[in-house]
Amino acid sequence: MIIPIRCITCGKPVAHLWEEFKEKVAKGMEPGEVMDELGLDRACCRSLFLTHVDSIDLINKFKKY
Ligand SMILES: [Zn+2]
Repeated sequence: MIIPIRCITCGKPVAHLWEEFKEKVAKGMEPGEVMDELGLDRACCRSLFLTHVDSIDLINKFKKY
């Protein structure tokens, strides 16, 4: 879906970092390095970014109204 506003486990606001993370990873940077740069130190926040799948565009195709 869309990235959660806050980390589900620790509550740190993370949504504002998602676009930058996505851009840099698409350009070929290592996800670990990008997360270090963005200040995502905790394992919970890092796992959120590594496992997230942006499916909102796919879901929008099936929107009825
Ligand atoms: Zn966290």
